[in-house]
Amino acid sequence: MNRGHQPDGRAVPLAEVARRLGVSVTDDVRRAARRLPLRFPRSYVDQLQRAGALDLLARIGWPDPEETVPDPGGLDDPVGEAGRAPHPLVRRKYPDRAILLAASRCHFYCRFCFRAGVDIEPSPAELARAVGTIARLARDGVREVILSGGDPLTLDDHRLGALLADLGRVEGIATVRIHTRAPVHQPERVSESLVETLTGSARRPPWVVIHVSHPAELHPAFDEAVARLRGHGIPLLSQSVLLAGVNDAPERLAALFGGLYERGVKPYYLHHPDRVPGTARFHVAIERGRGIVRALRALLPGPAMPSYVVDLPDGSGKVPVDWLEPDGTGHWRVGLPGGKVLRYEERPATGRSAEPPP
Ligand code: SF4
Repeated sequence: MNRGHQPDGRAVPLAEVARRLGVSVTDDVRRAARRLPLRFPRSYVDQLQRAGALDLLARIGWPDPEETVPDPGGLDDPVGEAGRAPHPLVRRKYPDRAILLAASRCHFYCRFCFRAGVDIEPSPAELARAVGTIARLARDGVREVILSGGDPLTLDDHRLGALLADLGRVEGIATVRIHTRAPVHQPERVSESLVETLTGSARRPPWVVIHVSHPAELHPAFDEAVARLRGHGIPLLSQSVLLAGVNDAPERLAALFGGLYERGVKPYYLHHPDRVPGTARFHVAIERGRGIVRALRALLPGPAMPSYVVDLPDGSGKVPVDWLEPDGTGHWRVGLPGGKVLRYEERPATGRSAEPPP
């Protein structure tokens, strides 16, 4: 791996972020930054400040002391990727899809993330070898490549275009999906040049899945980024994680998913939080999550409802949370297609809830 270029755009110095949030840069903060870097794009910080939502920034972007101590409720491999990596940059958990970790960097580092960033980039040669692995998997049934990371849009247009072109030449790959938070955290990255790269480099435009956590993230610059992508015919979906103290209230999720739907972004997944070490403060109990989603149904049109899913820690992949049944011990069991039955253990919920919106 080689050190890559800095993601586009300016970041706010840590001391200034601390001052705006009214917190201090303690030793705990510095230690937590070794687990997952700290980066605060100026446009995102300014947008949240204008919206009066700096508490959101503190919640999802500023480290908590729990990140620096052992976490018995966390799992080192929370979504079961060990043993499902035919190449260091490739994950295959489903017969027809493969994930390609195209970048390690992010425009902003979300403290709840299970892919603890290493802040280095795969080299072009490493990506080329990963595409070779994808070509082998395509002969074995893989039809879709999901670009993840890190955030794939931290790659510059030249490298991203070359990667899309290489994937477009792999026989059997029908679709490419790009997962990104750039429209939220670094909307200026969604430039005309980027959308021309996305539409001009492959046989078909890729799908873009925007990760978004809170209605305050649907800011004017987000709108511009989404309109630019839509204007070039790029199909858009969204993904969110259900997060205690951020969005675990039906009205707040309704504002988020309704707002996305109005902008032409189809809400796709609401993820139950993964058991990432050091993130217990974000956990929501399964039963409570189900109640929130039931209430949400009354607040949204059908197409604006995402699927509420949990990514199983054994690597079996995502299943609807509705498939989980109490197992009589305070945990859950889930029957998979094919007859396999798994136990799902939930961690105790310690996080505070989101306040109802004003
Ligand atoms: S942008 Fe995505 S990969 Fe990066 S820290 Fe946030 S959730 Fe994780």
